[in-house]
Amino acid sequence: MKLLKIFLLFMISATTLFSSVTLLKKVTLQKGELRLEFSQSYDKKQIRHFTLRKPYREVFDIKNTRLAGKYVGKNLKSNHCRSLRVSQYKRNIVRVVIETDRSYVCTPYKPLFSWKSYHIPLPKFTLNPTARSSRYASRKSLKTRKITKKHKKNKPYLIAPTKSYHKNELIVIDAGHGGKDTGAIGGGKREKDLVLQIAKKVAKEIKKRGYSVYLTRSTNRFLKLSQRTRIADKKGSVAFISIHANSVPKKHRLTAHGVETFYLQNTRDAKSQRIAARENAAVLKGAGSRLSKKVIIDSVLNGPKIVQSNKLAIDVQRRIITNLRCSYKGVRDGGVRHAPFYVLVGASRPSILVEVGYISNPRERKRLFTQKYQKLIAKGIAEGVDSYLNNRKKEIDIE
Ligand SMILES: [Zn+2]
Repeated sequence: MKLLKIFLLFMISATTLFSSVTLLKKVTLQKGELRLEFSQSYDKKQIRHFTLRKPYREVFDIKNTRLAGKYVGKNLKSNHCRSLRVSQYKRNIVRVVIETDRSYVCTPYKPLFSWKSYHIPLPKFTLNPTARSSRYASRKSLKTRKITKKHKKNKPYLIAPTKSYHKNELIVIDAGHGGKDTGAIGGGKREKDLVLQIAKKVAKEIKKRGYSVYLTRSTNRFLKLSQRTRIADKKGSVAFISIHANSVPKKHRLTAHGVETFYLQNTRDAKSQRIAARENAAVLKGAGSRLSKKVIIDSVLNGPKIVQSNKLAIDVQRRIITNLRCSYKGVRDGGVRHAPFYVLVGASRPSILVEVGYISNPRERKRLFTQKYQKLIAKGIAEGVDSYLNNRKKEIDIE
């Protein structure tokens, strides 16, 4: 069994390496069907169809495929389903979930002469309003849900999370450096000032989406490592985001630019190590000998948060880049990497560090200090966090 798993894993990675990725361009609801449109013709073998129970779900895993954009498959509603969800389940797997009251015969097909489409029939029955509702609904909304006369007449209701839905989810935003620790300096501008400006905007954007937010600092003050991590570990916080700006020595200042997001993991990648060393220098000064490097890193590496931190990092990085590129040319996507940042160490929840740009690069520095650029970054981070947390809820779809 184990061998088979390894073999399958090998096959999957081989497919990923050697064939180009299909994009899922559009998902629409037409004539009682969910219609998927891909960027290229696909092989039916790419799609794994299975069902899950309690609640009843038809699930489709489409391998070697990515969502073409963040709005693909969003806000799909049908009177015949509890919910319709389309998500980037894994890096190269798109998952489509149709949740209903009870089982139905679902025979998806590839329409004739339409090599890029895949149609999934939805159930024909109407939902039973008194049936057990979706487990994705929060308790609170279950209580406050009203089954009005309208519903009794077989009109379905959809439980849309309200804004207060996220109120109990606390996000900690950490503006790097502060006080005597200026962080990087470029063209007379200081990292500690930039990241505080951005952190405040991020907090505002995240609040707008209904979450609670905590800032590790809201003024120009120095924080010890232990203070930062204590705040990060604040009860109830679901994500920790540290904001920094990058810098390189003078001879590279024109070539190094772009956005990078890190999650904590020990790494041999020389570049990640260099950046981590620079960011760590100040916090380690105050850390004391009790925190031996190995102990800290071991405690985190053995924790379960790395996978989640990686996912959070991917979502945040993607949204920042998308937002910036809408308005600015030449924004470099430095990607998601891992690095042993000490600031993330104490955090026992998904934690990432965003290097929003290079303060050493003249063009990027100019942009970084404008309201517009900062707002786009802040919006990107907030969207990434929101998307990550929503996808986490969908992970209940795991078999
Ligand atoms: Zn920094």
